[in-house]
Amino acid sequence: MSKKLSISDWNPAGAKVLVRVDFNVPLDGERNITDETRITAALPTIRYLTGKGAKVILMSHLGRPKGKTDPALSLRPVADRLAELLEVPVKFAQDTVGPDARRLAEGLVGGEVLLLENLRYNPGETANDPAFAGALAGLGEFFVNDAFGTAHRAHASTVGVPQALGGGRAGFLMEMELAHLGGMLAEPERPFVAILGGAKVSGKVDVILNLLDRVDTLLLGGGMIFTFFRMMGLNIGSSLLDVDSSDVVREILAKARTAQAELILPEDCLVADEFAADAKTEEVLVTDIPADWMGLDIGSRSRERFSEVISTARSIFWNGPMGVFELPPFAGGTRAVGMAVAEATSAGATSVVGGGDSVAAVNHLGLAERISHISTGGGASLEFMAGRTLPGVEALSPAEGFDR
Ligand code: AMP
Repeated sequence: MSKKLSISDWNPAGAKVLVRVDFNVPLDGERNITDETRITAALPTIRYLTGKGAKVILMSHLGRPKGKTDPALSLRPVADRLAELLEVPVKFAQDTVGPDARRLAEGLVGGEVLLLENLRYNPGETANDPAFAGALAGLGEFFVNDAFGTAHRAHASTVGVPQALGGGRAGFLMEMELAHLGGMLAEPERPFVAILGGAKVSGKVDVILNLLDRVDTLLLGGGMIFTFFRMMGLNIGSSLLDVDSSDVVREILAKARTAQAELILPEDCLVADEFAADAKTEEVLVTDIPADWMGLDIGSRSRERFSEVISTARSIFWNGPMGVFELPPFAGGTRAVGMAVAEATSAGATSVVGGGDSVAAVNHLGLAERISHISTGGGASLEFMAGRTLPGVEALSPAEGFDR
């Protein structure tokens, strides 16, 4: 993918700039923001644009209101928190393309910030409806996308608006994500080791197939490995089995036989007699899983082997936990991998961690500072690593030969 036009060296003074941000933050029952990472991640771009005297119009979605107004998913708490973080007032429009948004956008002066209400209150957002995209585009003159997390979706605010405005620029966060993930796919320092885990095979098939052509070693853990073991003829007791993915798992195993990459599956696992924190547990070889027991983490031999492989890596991509890390007895495999990735990074490797659960694990373990790059986009980073073009990135202007 060609490099995209940046906001650096751009002078948007006095211009109305529509900025797609990812303010899809988690809220508790009282609508308090429980994790503001996504807001702070967008601050450099917002500060840069206001510092240049632009009139900044922010757009985001929050949750899945399915095209209807849902007060529980209003972006107002985000506007309030953003104002505190920026230390300037943030105007808040009670609609997206209605009279309030139009009036407030029209009244902005250079350096001011306006946040529109939840884009997904309007069904035109996810449908990429041209009328809705045109109305959004009509609020501003230029488009900036800093929402890597939604770049894999062709929605009105990610694709329709830049099309209507004749292109757009990548914000700093978007630029950084593309540089890290793109660099890892295009010219990784070797050995390149990828670690994939999590429950669902289905969402990771294309990433696994693509990475088998690119990495030196692919380590697999998490609930998805049991479908592999089943396809290899092993008994997996009551471990997670994704029957619908049987064919693709066979395809992956066949590809692994001829691929340049070495595919490593765990040799042992921690099994439990039930899915609970106080379950009885036992460590067994994957060839010895007792009937009615379920594998909930990788075992100690596998942790050692995985850590050893990771310690030799110069490039590391990690997505998905090795076990049910939310329950303390089954968090050990994920912790071991997290530690190994952090140590390899301290020794000079480049590491990228993507996906909500692995990011949560890294934060929980206090290892975030020791990872080269933590991707803000779970789904988007996986699609990117699967080799797909992200529509929201595609819609931005190329860095070369563009004069807007
Ligand atoms: P995913 O959304 O596919 O990345 O899966 C993340 C989830 O996988 C986490 O909530 C983990 O608890 C879960 N998980 C990891 N290992 C296992 C396992 N062995 N059995 C069941 N669930 C698992």
